[in-house]
Amino acid sequence: MTGQKMESASQKKYELPPLPYAPDALEPHISREQLSLHHDKHHQAYVTGANADLEKLEKARQEGTEVDMKALLKDLSFNIGGHILHTRFWPSMAPAGKGGGGTPGGALADRIDREWGSFDRFKAEFTKAAASAEGSGWAALAYCTMTDRPMIMQIEKHNTNVYPTFQILMVLDVWEHAYYIDYRNNRGQFIDAFWNVVNWDAVNKRFENL
Ligand code: MN
Repeated sequence: MTGQKMESASQKKYELPPLPYAPDALEPHISREQLSLHHDKHHQAYVTGANADLEKLEKARQEGTEVDMKALLKDLSFNIGGHILHTRFWPSMAPAGKGGGGTPGGALADRIDREWGSFDRFKAEFTKAAASAEGSGWAALAYCTMTDRPMIMQIEKHNTNVYPTFQILMVLDVWEHAYYIDYRNNRGQFIDAFWNVVNWDAVNKRFENL
């Protein structure tokens, strides 16, 4: 029992990654207040939540007690999903005109053209996926290595409608907590703003490293 406890105490935990730019770097499209709150409070809450869920499992193992497995794993999926998606979201953006905005280049540009016919058609479909995500959710550009095709994924909460194991190249958070300070209830304005800060170089690098 003691040995198990020591091992458990040394297990790695999830950690909040720092923003890859200053919190005001995405202004005026995303304000310092909006970005700081989103990263420091909301993302942190999923990290804290995932670690707490794992600790509940570890504690029950050590004490030989039961947990409500269904409820706990549902919560763990939600929290890990939130952590992973936010961790991918921050580097999917860069300051406007300094890596953010414009259109993709490199191999990704060709692949988007082949799949959607044009960048504008891709942008329109992605925008619609983001705008129509029900309740709290995300739009993502994912990649299927079975068919070698990029696909748009619309995620509800952090973990529903996910295509399991598909690589996520780029992701946009459309939870209200992502935009409410800057855009109130106008999700469409926030999505328009996102296109000014999307970091296509980073997305293209992810694609080339698949
Ligand atoms: Mn969020």
